[in-house]
Amino acid sequence: MGRSRKRRPERRSPDDSLDRLISGWRRTESRRGSEWNVQPVGQGRSDKRYSCPGCSRTIEPGTAHLVTWRADGVLGDRADLEARRHWHAHCWNL
Ligand SMILES: [Zn+2]
Repeated sequence: MGRSRKRRPERRSPDDSLDRLISGWRRTESRRGSEWNVQPVGQGRSDKRYSCPGCSRTIEPGTAHLVTWRADGVLGDRADLEARRHWHAHCWNL
């Protein structure tokens, strides 16, 4: 009984952390006519201030929120990820 299935080598990227973010625990949601990657950021996991596109208010450092980026962009995951936005969870879910 020979198994002849070959394992395809994984593509390695010099930027491991970005790849981990891309392949991590995000989920995909359909919003506003587009597919979006949605990745929750837990309480205390951020140390920057962000401006929420939903309410134009500040997301304070350490506040649990969501990071979103397009999942159907033509430029590819990396470019979309670089254009990611930070949302209050309740603003995203409106
Ligand atoms: Zn907001």
